[in-house]
Amino acid sequence: MQMICKFCEKKKLNQVINFGKFPVCHKFLNKKKKLKNYNLGLSLCKSCNLTQLSSTFPLKELKPIHNWITYNEPEEHLDKLVHIISKLKNINKNSIISGVSYKEISILERFKKKGFKNKWILNPKKDLKIHDTKHNLETIQKKISSIKNFKRIQNLGKSDVLIVRHILEHCYDIKRFLLNLKKLIKKNGYIVFEVPDCEQSFLKRDYVMMWEEHVFYFTKNSFINLLRASGFKVEYFERYKYSYENILIAIVSLDNNQLSFNKKNKLQKNNFNNKNLEKDKFLIKQKIKKLKEKNFQICLFGTGHSALTFVNILNIQNQLDLIVDDDKNKLKMVLPGTNLKITNSNNLKNLDKIIILLGVNYESEKKIISKIKKINKKVKYFSVYKNSKFNLFKNEKFKKN
Ligand SMILES: [Zn+2]
Repeated sequence: MQMICKFCEKKKLNQVINFGKFPVCHKFLNKKKKLKNYNLGLSLCKSCNLTQLSSTFPLKELKPIHNWITYNEPEEHLDKLVHIISKLKNINKNSIISGVSYKEISILERFKKKGFKNKWILNPKKDLKIHDTKHNLETIQKKISSIKNFKRIQNLGKSDVLIVRHILEHCYDIKRFLLNLKKLIKKNGYIVFEVPDCEQSFLKRDYVMMWEEHVFYFTKNSFINLLRASGFKVEYFERYKYSYENILIAIVSLDNNQLSFNKKNKLQKNNFNNKNLEKDKFLIKQKIKKLKEKNFQICLFGTGHSALTFVNILNIQNQLDLIVDDDKNKLKMVLPGTNLKITNSNNLKNLDKIIILLGVNYESEKKIISKIKKINKKVKYFSVYKNSKFNLFKNEKFKKN
């Protein structure tokens, strides 16, 4: 079945994989309650080479029900990025530097320290008319796509540099989103985009890449393709390497020539497919079964969307004995998609044989391991991340039968 591409709108979208039906990752509740499930799958557009959700979750379902869930983006590269931006043609300390969401606060602070005086960030209430305090990127992206009155923004001053970190992949109407961003910058201004790089995840079948809030899964090729086809000229591009997931950075200017897609590009290679998924599910189930036969208890440590996606996609909910998260807000709450209640790491103290599935964000893995060691020395570890040295799939191969 061919569906319509959410970017180029051609009827060339082919399904790559169907993961199954899952609830929204952030629906932590006090009591066991059946949550609504939605289909999670990936499709590839054969026209623009953009990998995307086969169908999006309803936006209202993505609205946070708690205000204590936050998402962190890697920041190690930001000092370098600020330096690169400050050296762009026509940019000086009087330039107006701006951002679209709270994700730009930390980079704008860096500009301030360097002596850039003029900055603004779109104000959720005043600029985007968001009155509900429980909102996140699902609402911000939608409101930016639907701005009609740019008057207040014109008063703030159109930007010389508009920074747009980690929101493009969330957009439900990416065309309108990009069109409206153009109205926020000067004619010779720049937009700086940052998105996750999914290329390695596609090749390595890294299931934690999937997240119902991400509509688009970019690679260098599909990202540049999309920017050019949207009327941007790519002035600077970088793939910044992080241990867990690389990021793609593009600094663009306005281009009157809207280029068409580069047809010479090979279609994105992707090792996600339904057959491999069944194999991986089988493999992990067997692995955990063997551990349980040796009387190990299985504990998931960390309950962010990566951990949850891993558990749900690979269908190991019923094999978990314990869910640990030291976020006080999550204590005693039910892990979405399971019947298991979240407890804190004190409960690891007296357990004798325990395997921990690390689902904490990759950067804090080391810190968490040393913390767990202080509580219980006998613990063994695996990680849900493919790039971790504790990766659960490591050394696992299919036996030919
Ligand atoms: Zn397309």
